[in-house]
Amino acid sequence: MVSFLKGSEMMKLKTHIHSVESCGTVDGPGLRYVIFTQGCLLRCQFCHNPDTWAFGKGEGMEVSVSSLMKDIKDYLPFLQASNGGVTVSGGEPLLHVDFLIELFTECKKLGIHTAIDSSGGCFTRKDRFIQSLDTLIELTDLVLLDLKQINDQKHRALTSISNKHILDFARYLNEKQVPIWVRHVLIPDITDQEADLRGLADFIHTLSNVRKVEVLPYHRLGVYKWEALGLDYPLKDVSTPTDDKVKWAQNILNEAVV
Ligand code: SF4
Repeated sequence: MVSFLKGSEMMKLKTHIHSVESCGTVDGPGLRYVIFTQGCLLRCQFCHNPDTWAFGKGEGMEVSVSSLMKDIKDYLPFLQASNGGVTVSGGEPLLHVDFLIELFTECKKLGIHTAIDSSGGCFTRKDRFIQSLDTLIELTDLVLLDLKQINDQKHRALTSISNKHILDFARYLNEKQVPIWVRHVLIPDITDQEADLRGLADFIHTLSNVRKVEVLPYHRLGVYKWEALGLDYPLKDVSTPTDDKVKWAQNILNEAVV
């Protein structure tokens, strides 16, 4: 826990990030200052950022809360004029929960809208993590939640882990009534089966905090990163979905939003 630290010590907290995008347009409302954290527990076959996977000492770029806040302040007029804010994406942001508490505390002092883009892959209701998460969630205006596959067996094949705790993360956010945007990557023959989409729609329907559902068409923009890392890209033979298929899937999932 970091709550016992004095203000000046909090600002010195450090973590490891992959990169920053100063004026993003797709990760939340308005213009976003997007921080991509380093480290992820999943191994999604379609991941376009496999260079964010590695976690631990020496991985990524070390930054402090104060250095990020200094940079964010430079973009503040643009972020605020567009009703935007700060989004922390990944990798998996929740691997950095204590750092995020301090970062968002500083953001809130300046009235900045805060969002987390998470797969929920490290979610657990165990004491230490949930206590920190409870604090972080109070400082978070929006969660962009990636629900990749409702069928657990297919989820394991696609991401390397079960979706059980990820769905529990969605329930937790519902209990906290944190607004969420659900995101679903549409991959031909892998996440576009009607039964799976309807199953996902049924699950979304059980939540009352979903403000939006976004179907994101699978793309191949990250394949070069797999090659650069010497990794075998598993979806070599998979094409991108048609616009009609994306609209069809979006319609199914839109019906679930109350
Ligand atoms: S959760 Fe995101 S960063 Fe992690 S492997 Fe999946 S797509 Fe990549």
